[in-house]
Amino acid sequence: MSTSRKEFIRNSFLLAGAAGFNIPSPSELSEKRFPNAEGDRLVLLGTQGGPFIRSYTQTPSANLIVYKDIPFVIDTGYGTTFKLKEAGINLSTLKYIFITHLHSDHYLDLGPLLYNAWIAGLTEPINVYAPAGIRPLLNAYWESNRFDIDTRIKDEGRPDIRNLVIAYEITEGIQVAHPDFEISAIKNIHPPIDASYAFKFKLGKKIIVFSGDTAYHPALATFASGADYLIHEVMYSPAVDEIAKRRPNATKLIASIKSHHTSAEDVGRIAKAANVKTLILNHFVPPDDKSLNNQIWIDAVRSTFTGTIIVGKDLQQFNF
Ligand SMILES: [Zn+2]
Ligand SMILES: [Zn+2]
Repeated sequence: MSTSRKEFIRNSFLLAGAAGFNIPSPSELSEKRFPNAEGDRLVLLGTQGGPFIRSYTQTPSANLIVYKDIPFVIDTGYGTTFKLKEAGINLSTLKYIFITHLHSDHYLDLGPLLYNAWIAGLTEPINVYAPAGIRPLLNAYWESNRFDIDTRIKDEGRPDIRNLVIAYEITEGIQVAHPDFEISAIKNIHPPIDASYAFKFKLGKKIIVFSGDTAYHPALATFASGADYLIHEVMYSPAVDEIAKRRPNATKLIASIKSHHTSAEDVGRIAKAANVKTLILNHFVPPDDKSLNNQIWIDAVRSTFTGTIIVGKDLQQFNF
């Protein structure tokens, strides 16, 4: 073997070792998480803001509630399918998926998730609640996979997934009214997207609210009044301003970011006005500023909210 080849192999091992030291592998995460995968729970699956993929440890938006053994998925950013497996969910048991808005960091894994639920043995319908546009999005996905789907139906005797996925275009109000739970939506503020929603889950006596992506929206405080958990997106404004120094032509980007995200201080104002029991921060903006540690986020929100603040991490679980 040549010296350069030996060096290449040695360096590859060093790199692999370094990566393994810092980032828990998916199997390590599974071992830690699976024993807890029981009871009524909220699991943060993906807490990163925006669609850019950086690492498996923080992936785009996705959340899971399990209530009375029924899994509810809220947003399906890239990586959701694997994160659900890490959280101990049998994909063939999925029944309810809610999408806050049609930005790819909130839905990119929807098609693959539905497909994998089908491959896992899905027999009951999955209900997908999403803004207008969801039907053409799903139809295009089925069309792009038509050859495989038709082949497996014929060859493996599977039911037709296109009949098992039922898409509902949401408007404000109650989406699901069930004797055990009620799920409702209000519009949030996400220019230029009009059809963008916050969701409220009433699960027995517990209330869990997801802000979706939104600018400061005082109506959300009324919607989330008394919530046990408010999962709110968050922006650290000084770090967004820093983008202008790194990228001089970023004026348009910064204006766009600020038009549909909420500063940490305003997130605290919403949590205070709503008198929520626990505020969970997620969808961190900007997502790529390594100087933003937990304490910086907490201090910024603490200036306006004195209650419990959690800086959300992927696969973090809250039993309720
Ligand atoms: Zn987003
Ligand atoms: Zn968005």
